[in-house]
Amino acid sequence: MMKFADLINQNSEELATLDTLDAGKLFSEAKYVDVPAGAELLRYYAGAADKIHGEVLKMSRPLHAYTLLEPIGVVGHIIPWNFPSSLFFTKVSPALAAGCTMVVKPAEQTPLSALYYAHLAKQAGIPDGVLNVVTGFGPTAGAAISHHMDIEMVSFTGSAEVGREIMKAAASSNLKPVSLELGGKSPLIIFDDADVDIASDLALLGFTCNKGEVCVASTRLYVQEGVYDEFVKKLAEKAKALVVGDPFDPQVRYGPQVDKTQFEKILSYIEHGKKEGATLLSGGKRIGEKGYYIEPTIFTNVKEDMLIVKDEIFGPVVGLMKFKTIEEAIQRANATRYGLAAGIVTKDLNVANTVSRSVRAGSIWINCYFAIDQDCPFGGYKMSGFGKDFGLDALHKYLQVKSVVTPLYNS
Ligand code: ADP
Repeated sequence: MMKFADLINQNSEELATLDTLDAGKLFSEAKYVDVPAGAELLRYYAGAADKIHGEVLKMSRPLHAYTLLEPIGVVGHIIPWNFPSSLFFTKVSPALAAGCTMVVKPAEQTPLSALYYAHLAKQAGIPDGVLNVVTGFGPTAGAAISHHMDIEMVSFTGSAEVGREIMKAAASSNLKPVSLELGGKSPLIIFDDADVDIASDLALLGFTCNKGEVCVASTRLYVQEGVYDEFVKKLAEKAKALVVGDPFDPQVRYGPQVDKTQFEKILSYIEHGKKEGATLLSGGKRIGEKGYYIEPTIFTNVKEDMLIVKDEIFGPVVGLMKFKTIEEAIQRANATRYGLAAGIVTKDLNVANTVSRSVRAGSIWINCYFAIDQDCPFGGYKMSGFGKDFGLDALHKYLQVKSVVTPLYNS
């Protein structure tokens, strides 16, 4: 695993190029964040691989008993297209450390870096058959994994719709356990005491990072009435100044949407938002005639029952809502079927602590956003799924517990 990680670092230019070509993501981010983060995940879990152990149990009868932690078996990893490199290693690294063999199915839109990683794994000396990459479409290659009788677990990241299909397939085949990291519609809550400059920077990043193709994108912005006008003005100014274009250009803040389907889906949500009566504050259109570029799009006067607030759009589109009290902020932040992440911007520790405990989401970021880290368990509440990635929680999901019992004496 350490050697594999070194090879990734040595090949980061090529790997990042593949992700940029496939997904339209920023080359600088791919090269300096996504790809090296994959190598770091391998190192992190390699460090845990020789510290996996069970425990001796205190029994109620004269028995000697202990637990063994064993690899769960053959794992199927089904991953989406928005972070081809980071998600590959989010799944593969803990499973390798747990001693599992695996089949990885990258998304049909972004298979190239996964194939390159398979080549590097072989070069690193990972035995044939341990880390297998199978490309293909979801309903065929993906479904073959989720229905397979010899695959003992599926770890999936993607949409809630497909997550449901995977659970059904697991239930109707060999009852394999599944871990599902699904969509989100995460709230970012900005209180009156927030520094509006910092808050608007976080909000801009929250919905435009990776052109909004992020499961934890903060696409519901709740702003307290005292700072609302100032915040809206700043956010709109910053969004208008944002450079969108060729993802290989270092000046560019985000590139094209991944493909035509996604591009059209986002534009149709924008149209829907206008028809539903939301106010288009800025953006809302395609940029240029060529390529799938969309302006950063801000809606105001949105309500929780509008489709643009209920559905995960997976594009650079955000809805702004004004609130009065902390209770109202909590209630409205929770008014979603998702529960992946939430952000809070305030200087008041009591407010931060109260909201953190009251919002039903797997990750809470106070005065920051996207603070995803290999040490920190990551995964959803509600329809954002279950089962954690990262940290030792992820290692344990690829392990199963065996109890071994023997009499202490012959009676
Ligand atoms: P997104 O909405 O991010 O495109 P999807 O949930 O559609 O995500 O796809 C994520 C991954 O799930 C991809 O690798 C895709 O090929 C796969 N997939 C899609 N449909 C199925 C299915 N019916 N069974 C198994 N995997 C699927």
